[in-house]
Amino acid sequence: MTLHIPFDNSYARLPDRFFVRQAPVPVREPRLLALNAPLAEELGLDPTALATPEGVATLAGNAVPEGAEPLAQAYAGHQFGGWNPRLGDGRAILLGEVVDRHGQRRDIQLKGAGRTPFSRMGDGRAWVGPVLREFVVSEAMHAMGVPTTRALSAVATGETIRRERAHPGAVLARVAASHIRVGTFQYFYARDDMEALAALTDHVLQRHYPGADGAMGLLRAVVDRQARLIAHWMALGFIHGVMNTDNMAVSGETIDYGPCAFLDSYHPDTVFSSIDSHGRYAYRQQPQVAAWNLAQLATALLPLMGNEAAIPEATEVVQGLAPTYAAEWIRRFAAKLGLPPDDPEVQPLATRLLDQMAATWADFTITFRALTEGTEVPADLAAQPEFQAWRKDWEARSPDATAMRRANPAVIPRNHRVEAMIEAAVAGDLAPLEELRAALADPFDPDPRFDHLRAPPQEEEKVLRTFCGT
Ligand code: AMP
Ligand code: MG
Ligand code: MG
Repeated sequence: MTLHIPFDNSYARLPDRFFVRQAPVPVREPRLLALNAPLAEELGLDPTALATPEGVATLAGNAVPEGAEPLAQAYAGHQFGGWNPRLGDGRAILLGEVVDRHGQRRDIQLKGAGRTPFSRMGDGRAWVGPVLREFVVSEAMHAMGVPTTRALSAVATGETIRRERAHPGAVLARVAASHIRVGTFQYFYARDDMEALAALTDHVLQRHYPGADGAMGLLRAVVDRQARLIAHWMALGFIHGVMNTDNMAVSGETIDYGPCAFLDSYHPDTVFSSIDSHGRYAYRQQPQVAAWNLAQLATALLPLMGNEAAIPEATEVVQGLAPTYAAEWIRRFAAKLGLPPDDPEVQPLATRLLDQMAATWADFTITFRALTEGTEVPADLAAQPEFQAWRKDWEARSPDATAMRRANPAVIPRNHRVEAMIEAAVAGDLAPLEELRAALADPFDPDPRFDHLRAPPQEEEKVLRTFCGT
């Protein structure tokens, strides 16, 4: 059985300065850890062929399939607010693009595929932990309906990766509508390369926003998608953790699952990332940070929009994120509470509930699901007189439990479960990985045999810090 990937590589046809051609660096002993067969089929690839030694060699970067044009993409970015004019794919190689069964163009990228001219001090590699974390969390996000990059496969490399400790290496095959970032635009703006900016804008318009008109239309469309995306994250208790401008895809997909985490106990100031000491990317900050990032996109697009003359309109477009986000937040929390989106009580009811949850550190997912299923909410919350009053007011509006079931997941990839899954996988036991994948395939209606995965962490299981760049 031979593997055939019908590549059609539009990015590789852009001018040379958009990327550096670079083949993946082969690894010692590739071994398949996880394969996403439904996604393979969606891409028009044969999952059986992908699981053969030839397929696994391709997914590991040991064999470059016919039609691939491997390259590392150039981009810049603001990392925690600090400008870096040259980041780029330091450990990811774009193999190429395929047009999927729905006519959508998708990137196939190998993450952890070896050094590139953008690697700086890095080794170009990834280890099993973050690779499996991204695999599980990005697929769970997709199953919850959130726009996201996808995970096609995870392959162990048989090599050792040195971080603070030694870890087993791995390569993730990531699928995305594109890997073009806010930082891609910034890269060319900072170099005063107007020709490249114009070519990139045309490429992105064609690929993601065929109905949008010019650079201003592009900005408007990206702002709209990001506003909706962040509201979706907030409604699921998702904290991205590293919303640098190079980690914001202009397609509107969630990208870069480094230090991300779902809230267990709800508090809006929650931060997980070990390097986010000022809480720049805390849960509650996410909409403001998105606006900040999009202001950087607006700046990068200004030369194409008419420079100074375009500033008022561009500013208005970026400021338009706030009302779009607010409306989308209401719509999502209305569904979470089983109320119609135009009910004027949604905002006050959601806010009162969240305030009580924060005051009692109630588990975010458990609380909303308990309201959905009519079971007990966390005890400290239930004991609050303010919550009891809230519950009466809410129930008086006859919430629709069926709508709530599709808005409030029962299972999420809880941090302590993800960590335990990684530990097991490193020790050679892939059963927890399989179990998480199976449970998270339908987070809104999981099989009862996965009920134990709903539980919040015990005190000693709580994960307070996550790590990126790993
Ligand atoms: P991230 O924090 O994942 O958004 O990555 C920021 C930048 O660091 C990107 O340019 C990555 O390509 C690069 N990078 C991260 N890890 C490595 C690594 N192990 N080797 C080389 N480059 C890396
Ligand atoms: Mg990144
Ligand atoms: Mg990363």
